[in-house]
Amino acid sequence: MSKLTAIRGFNDILPTETAKWRAVEHILTQVLDGYGFSQIRLPLVEQTELFARGVGEATDIVEKEMFGVVHGNQNTGKDEGESSFTLRPEGTAGCVRAVVEHNLTRGDTPKLWYLGNMFRYERPQKGRYRQFTQLGVESFGSALPDADAELIAMTAMMWRRLGIDEHVTLQLNTLGEAHERLAYKNALVEYLTAHFDGLDDDSQRRVSTNPLRVLDSKDEQTQAILLGAPKLSDFLGEESRLHFEQVQNYLHTLGIDFEINEKLVRGLDYYNKTVFEWVTDKLGSQATVCGGGRYDGLVGIVKGKAEQSEPAVGFAMGVERLMLLIEAVNPIEAKADCDVFVVASEDVYMNAVLYAHQLRLNNPTLRVKMASATSLKSQMKKADKSGAKYTVIIGQDEVANDTISVKNMHTGEQVTASMNEFNFDK
Ligand code: ATP
Ligand code: MG
Repeated sequence: MSKLTAIRGFNDILPTETAKWRAVEHILTQVLDGYGFSQIRLPLVEQTELFARGVGEATDIVEKEMFGVVHGNQNTGKDEGESSFTLRPEGTAGCVRAVVEHNLTRGDTPKLWYLGNMFRYERPQKGRYRQFTQLGVESFGSALPDADAELIAMTAMMWRRLGIDEHVTLQLNTLGEAHERLAYKNALVEYLTAHFDGLDDDSQRRVSTNPLRVLDSKDEQTQAILLGAPKLSDFLGEESRLHFEQVQNYLHTLGIDFEINEKLVRGLDYYNKTVFEWVTDKLGSQATVCGGGRYDGLVGIVKGKAEQSEPAVGFAMGVERLMLLIEAVNPIEAKADCDVFVVASEDVYMNAVLYAHQLRLNNPTLRVKMASATSLKSQMKKADKSGAKYTVIIGQDEVANDTISVKNMHTGEQVTASMNEFNFDK
């Protein structure tokens, strides 16, 4: 029998790494709390139709990246109706589905976040996996530019708290409203059709499926052709232009630098007006750590009333890429997983277990670790290696006198103290 291993593109996050993940998640959630956002927890699996409709048929995600489509119960082979289910490739569509389903926007303007795994059938490489983690944020109910700016400002605050603000750049663009984009799309298609033979294969295909995506083609010849293409900014109406200007004004006021990138269109169909990405030059071609934008049309699409516009704006951050960036520019120090290590000679090990139990009961945030009841020498070795600040040693003398011996592992100093009186500062 061969050894079983994880599936390609699905990663284990090992104990040395999870401590760093938790530290980062702690900072991210602290910032979210600081802006008054609330957590929502969503299913990992949704109807395939939700993504087809909500993300868009002509997107990379729906065209080729949806992972693990399942039908009902795979053991019995029984089909639960005609539905096809898919592991979520992104969180926005599911979040909007939940908001609509539970009427969360009735009389309220929910500001929501979620943290969890997404699944995409991609070619695995550094910063690109088949199961990965996103922090997603969706803010509903405001059509005003301050809502767009608030999300961008919140991400800027996250970079600052994580100590990576020097290593990310904000790129900003506006896609205007659907009808403005449509007029632009027609002009672009006309131009691209006239230069069709010079375009790369992918771009040729996209001229008919998703022409805006041609703008972010990496092909040099295509990029050269695009230099003469019509510009989206020339198709914007007064309202869109003003909205974009105001977003920029908020960012200026908050001291957040940005670059306007007219080629930034984002992969997903549902955006309108503001779109943005935070990019870094530290991660090779997996350069985007976070991307988002306004999507006033999506709520209506999910509701099945596409003509309805309900304002919303959101972003998603790739946490694996964020961790890689942090590791590259401002690594998090590995920390011990305990504060106090309790060791005991084998004959009084039971007393030590009870002592550790009491210690944990009385100090809920103190991290108390024990090895198993092997020789004292072997326990001491583990205590040494653990990085704990204190080792508590319990032997027959200590039990007889109701005391503990406490060794400060930083100074090497050892004292005897009454069992319930020692103060373990962290
Ligand atoms: P890319 O252009 O890199 O494929 P995307 O436009 O598909 O990104 P989004 O759908 O906007 O990405 O997802 C938001 C973020 O999630 C990305 O900016 C990235 O940080 C992260 N991300 C997307 N796909 C993956 C993946 N397969 N593995 C790891 N992280 C990912
Ligand atoms: Mg992608």
